[in-house]
Amino acid sequence: MEVVRSQKKPSSAAASSDVVSNIPLYRSPPTLEVRLEDFERFAVDRLLVLRGISDGLARGKKPDEMEKLVSDLWKANMRHPQASEVINKDIISHFVLRLVYCRTEELRKWFLSMETTLFRYRFRLENSDVHRVLMTELGIPYKVVTNAEFEGLKDKLTQVARSVSQPLPTSDGTYYKVPFEEVPELVASRRVFIQKGYAYVALNQVVSFVIPHFRSHLSKALVLTNRKWTSMIREQEKDRLTPIVEALSTSYLGPDYSQAKELGEMSLKDIDQVARTSFPLCMRHLFDTLREDHHMKHGGRMQLGLFLKGAGLKLDDALAFWKAEFSQKVGAERFDKEYAYGIRHNYGKEGKRTDYTPYSCQKIILSTPGVGDHHGCPYRHFSEENLRAALGKMGVSSRALDDVIDKAKTKHYQLACTLTYEAVHGSSCDAGINHPNQYLSDSQKILEAKSTA
Ligand code: SF4
Repeated sequence: MEVVRSQKKPSSAAASSDVVSNIPLYRSPPTLEVRLEDFERFAVDRLLVLRGISDGLARGKKPDEMEKLVSDLWKANMRHPQASEVINKDIISHFVLRLVYCRTEELRKWFLSMETTLFRYRFRLENSDVHRVLMTELGIPYKVVTNAEFEGLKDKLTQVARSVSQPLPTSDGTYYKVPFEEVPELVASRRVFIQKGYAYVALNQVVSFVIPHFRSHLSKALVLTNRKWTSMIREQEKDRLTPIVEALSTSYLGPDYSQAKELGEMSLKDIDQVARTSFPLCMRHLFDTLREDHHMKHGGRMQLGLFLKGAGLKLDDALAFWKAEFSQKVGAERFDKEYAYGIRHNYGKEGKRTDYTPYSCQKIILSTPGVGDHHGCPYRHFSEENLRAALGKMGVSSRALDDVIDKAKTKHYQLACTLTYEAVHGSSCDAGINHPNQYLSDSQKILEAKSTA
């Protein structure tokens, strides 16, 4: 895959030679030119699909629900204005994310699991002709049962099919003879006939052994990509692709909350009330701590200060808000001298005059608060006891509380926050919480709708 600047067009001749089926197996990088902006844009679109799958799995969606979710995510994110380019977008985005997610064991594990799930449900949605093609391309070695053998086993195969409500075998249907240990799912659920160490797998069940093949191939490929990345690509591409690749695994993909477009201004007189009803736990904790301690270390000032800015608190009000608290501890003069600069800086009025953006959940979750710090994500950084107490204070019922704690323990922090939102507001949040300002904005909209209903 050669990455070029935007003036060059992709080479369609080269591209078409790579197109082998609607579901590529990603055996080798595409031999086509990719514009730099497509390199990043395609990867972000695929990442939206994989993160949606991760959220669906964490929510415990059933296979049929997952099938619909994957299909919807794919349609929403993987379109291309030119139909002929859809498959190229699929292949390019996969290989870009392979670079992004090959770099650590944890990233590899996540990518492998999400790509395998994506492949599983896309495979399920295809017909048996495509299944045959893909099995040939994957080099799956299992033999098709001969007509003579099929006739000898027909009654037994019919019995099993009937018992699990599968279509009954016919002489033009295909069965594969597979060592039974290769299809543990089918064996465990007794959905397959076994004889002399072989399972007889119907064509509509082949997903059971196709997926492990796909997974094993991708797992090896990720390790090889990692070697190439560390020995060569990272250095060669340090001015161009490396910064994009390094940013992608932690990038925030949602709307921009740097300015409070939807909510308008937040006034100082409403701030306590809004904090109580609509702040996510991370910000509620910072806000309450500031009101109590009249002081806050740098990490907390940044996290809360930028959130309030994104919530529509104007610079003058922000200065008044922080001064009212800090001056109780350090005095007004010291506040003006030591702390006011930082607040003006956040609003782009000092230093490099950059207009700083409120932190996303991903950034907050990955932060590392030290002793005496209060920033970070409570679902990740609080002890279970503290988290239970904080959720109780937010009004989360004891039944929902166990679910939230369970998600936090299994490291699904944003889902834990989404469940909290749903419990507190009595309303679902299907998109999930990705940004503290999204939590605030969604909460305010719901509360407004309820008050006018
Ligand atoms: Fe805040 Fe996001 Fe953590 Fe929720 S998931 S508490 S919004 S950082």
